[in-house]
Amino acid sequence: MFVPNFTVRSPHVRYTTDAIEATYRYETTQVETDGATGEAVAVPTAATYHFRTATKVGRVGLMLVGLGGNNGSTVTAAIAANRRGLSWRTKAGEQSANYLGSILMSSTLRVGADAATGEEVHTPLRSLLPMVHPNDLVVGGWDINSADLGTAMRRAAVLDVGAQVQLEEELSSIVPLPSVMYGDFIAANQAARADNLLPGDDKGAHLARIRADIRDFKTANDIDTVVVLWTANTERFAALTPGVNDTADALLAAIDASHPEVSPSTLFAVAAILEGCPYVNGSPQNTFVPGAVDLAVRHDVFIGGDDFKSGQTKFKSVLVDFLVQAGLKPTAIVSYNHLGNNDGRNLSAPSQFRSKEISKSSVVDDVVASNALLYPPGPGGAPPKGPDHVVVIKYVPAVGDSKRALDEYTSDIFMGGTNTIVAHNTCEDSLLASPLILDLAILAELSTRITYRTPEMQRHTHFHPVLSLLSYLLKAPIVPDGAPVVNALFKQRACLDNLLRACVGLPPENDMRLEQRAH
Ligand code: NAD
Repeated sequence: MFVPNFTVRSPHVRYTTDAIEATYRYETTQVETDGATGEAVAVPTAATYHFRTATKVGRVGLMLVGLGGNNGSTVTAAIAANRRGLSWRTKAGEQSANYLGSILMSSTLRVGADAATGEEVHTPLRSLLPMVHPNDLVVGGWDINSADLGTAMRRAAVLDVGAQVQLEEELSSIVPLPSVMYGDFIAANQAARADNLLPGDDKGAHLARIRADIRDFKTANDIDTVVVLWTANTERFAALTPGVNDTADALLAAIDASHPEVSPSTLFAVAAILEGCPYVNGSPQNTFVPGAVDLAVRHDVFIGGDDFKSGQTKFKSVLVDFLVQAGLKPTAIVSYNHLGNNDGRNLSAPSQFRSKEISKSSVVDDVVASNALLYPPGPGGAPPKGPDHVVVIKYVPAVGDSKRALDEYTSDIFMGGTNTIVAHNTCEDSLLASPLILDLAILAELSTRITYRTPEMQRHTHFHPVLSLLSYLLKAPIVPDGAPVVNALFKQRACLDNLLRACVGLPPENDMRLEQRAH
């Protein structure tokens, strides 16, 4: 059974004129271990949380860094197409605009069982709490290339021509704001694109200009909340240097001094944070140097990242979890990619490839760490030896945006056997990544309206500024200091679903279904 939306009837839930308030009992388990004896005792614990979600969704702006790229132009074009309800002919028949691939727009969650029939009742994930509809997002942003979005969409060669023709006039009126390009952060092969740069090399002045761009965009479009999202080229990692980017003050001083190790993506992050706008990093580089995280915490502004989890890695974070949960032991995971879009061209340079390699490599770490039966600690308590994990990326212009991902998973199985799974994934890269951009922006905005309080706290507060709630959508999720990183996809999804349920006072989905197991 499907219900488009629902309300909650509970003594612990209150709908006021401007908020949904829920008192929630959070039950979890703590384990006490005795280092001397090795004895472990599990202790069920419970805590009370009061959630408050403001229900007024104002006007929401999405400012993309890399607006004229494949993702940027595809997202912008897709919103326009959906808004206008466009359809177009393809050789396979009529195609209409849709939001497939957005978990908020196209996935459901089980609310519970029908009181009369016991049938499962599902609802769209987006109906749990008030969220901005992607059609209502106001999109703008920056690019180092001056092409208008109509031209950028054609250059990207992602959408069907039938869609492009109908969208071109509207998109041509959108022109990216000038941006910055510093040193060798992106590959030298991108230099020819850079015809839309802010003048000079004073990073302090650039920061002021980008902050003013955000404010101007807000005013011009009467916007309440702006989310800034990096979908520009992958940068090399910035060197972490004490006194340069280790604290918020050092980073701000480094920007004022135009220090060469301040990357464009970090500069945009600082601008967004100082303007109080959530900032999401869709690429793998270390935009969030410790000083940037420190600044986000200081200003209590959300940051999320890193690197969209769209194709190969998403599949990997399901498959490896499945293998290890099944008690099989992956010993080798070998991933090849070839792609022919501008992202692939940029990644053909070694230091930009290295950023991607790092973000793709950590994805099985939590799964390996969860099973010491398969992956016991090394001698003297050394970290366990996980599977050999290799990632290769090659630039092959002819395949364009249609990235090919080939993976081989080799596992030890029962009594000395070997299992090998080979997967071939034809991705259509930007069509997988663009819906994630929408989900990230919508969830980031929603997070600005959710606050909580425990009985010990004086007042409601937001979640931690490092917004790990976005992990499902990201390859190398950043988390608050000291929190474990979760990569396994269905755990990430359960976290998101159950947290949104908690905000409306519903218990977490536990799939026990005791009521159906009675005699
Ligand atoms: P793209 O090369 O088509 O677009 C990037 C755009 O950023 C270009 O228009 C470029 O001119 C612009 N740019 C570069 N540096 C800039 C700067 N400093 N300021 C403003 N604009 C700048 O790439 P894409 O396919 O759209 O991918 C964008 C990013 O998303 C890449 O870093 C990629 O690794 C990452 N990503 C993509 C996917 C996916 O598409 N499936 C998945 C994960 C991550």
